[in-house]
Amino acid sequence: MSLGEAFCVVCGSSDPLTSNRLCESCFRERVTLSELSATIQGVRCPKCSVVLYSGRWVSIPDEELHHGVVQQELAVDERASGLEVGIHAEPVDERNTRLNVQAVGVIDGLEFSDEHTTMLQLSNGICPSCSRRAGNYYESTVQLRSSGRRLSEDELTALRETLDSVISEMEPNPMFFINYEGAVSGGWDVVLGSKALARAWGRYLTKRYGSSTKESNTVVGRKDGEEITRLTVLYRKPAFDIGDIIHFRRADWVVAGWQKDGALLHALDRRERTGASWRDLEKSKVRARVKDHLNVDLLNRDSSGGEFLDPRDWQVRTVSLPFDDDGSNMSLRIALIGDEWVALPDVRRNPGGDADE
Ligand SMILES: [Zn+2]
Ligand SMILES: [Zn+2]
Repeated sequence: MSLGEAFCVVCGSSDPLTSNRLCESCFRERVTLSELSATIQGVRCPKCSVVLYSGRWVSIPDEELHHGVVQQELAVDERASGLEVGIHAEPVDERNTRLNVQAVGVIDGLEFSDEHTTMLQLSNGICPSCSRRAGNYYESTVQLRSSGRRLSEDELTALRETLDSVISEMEPNPMFFINYEGAVSGGWDVVLGSKALARAWGRYLTKRYGSSTKESNTVVGRKDGEEITRLTVLYRKPAFDIGDIIHFRRADWVVAGWQKDGALLHALDRRERTGASWRDLEKSKVRARVKDHLNVDLLNRDSSGGEFLDPRDWQVRTVSLPFDDDGSNMSLRIALIGDEWVALPDVRRNPGGDADE
């Protein structure tokens, strides 16, 4: 021991000191990295398994729930850095799970580690959406229909699937539930817990598949002087999709996109575009669906036509080249119109030559 050296204020040791002038062993005696209560309480809905966690009902995997509750309940020394928490979960019964928790962290340059055991106890509680469902609560109905024809099974599946993506893209909300759905004559009805969800889905459908929605409200009662209404959103899918070839005003057109009140059309055989309203388009007829178009490689070509193998019977057939042919292209997109193959212009690459696009 030499003069001027620092000593532990507790035991007088001259071992290297921590920042509060304690030797390592005295420091370790006085510091706890983390503490955890012996039990953690939670609520789980027995009907749909969502868990009340951080004040919200959420559907999360067990592992994520365990990490979430431990992170919330673990009291950690505020000087700790580089904290790492490992959890081993042992289910005890339906409602209880023992969580063995290891925490590692650094305080004042020294590594600390702790082990805890806590019991996560999930009691049963009906979540708000299940209680409303049980009470047959609903706010809105979305009616999926088509313009002047039956929706095909494929179309219906595709339209219905968009609801799942709409729900997954919105902030979770207990009212975003489906009360009932089923086939009705001419389409499909989906009864929903939320008006906002019905509207959001309607917007999504019109953006993706064109057309527009019609909304109507029915008064179903009164509460605190306010009318209680239910919303009906009617969506009619147009008879055609983007990419379909339609016959309209004595010519064939490629449906190139949706506009506010109708569709954007490109002529099939010349550089021309036009817009048409939904009302006008009611008189159109689909000539070739986009899902039936084919990409083919040409066997050979000249300046006006090319030969390809018809996939229906593997015979060599000739097709006239599209108006926007570049003189050397050896692959084409073709559509069967009537009983004749027609080569399609690339309307995205050649948007009609209009100045405003
Ligand atoms: Zn000491
Ligand atoms: Zn529930």
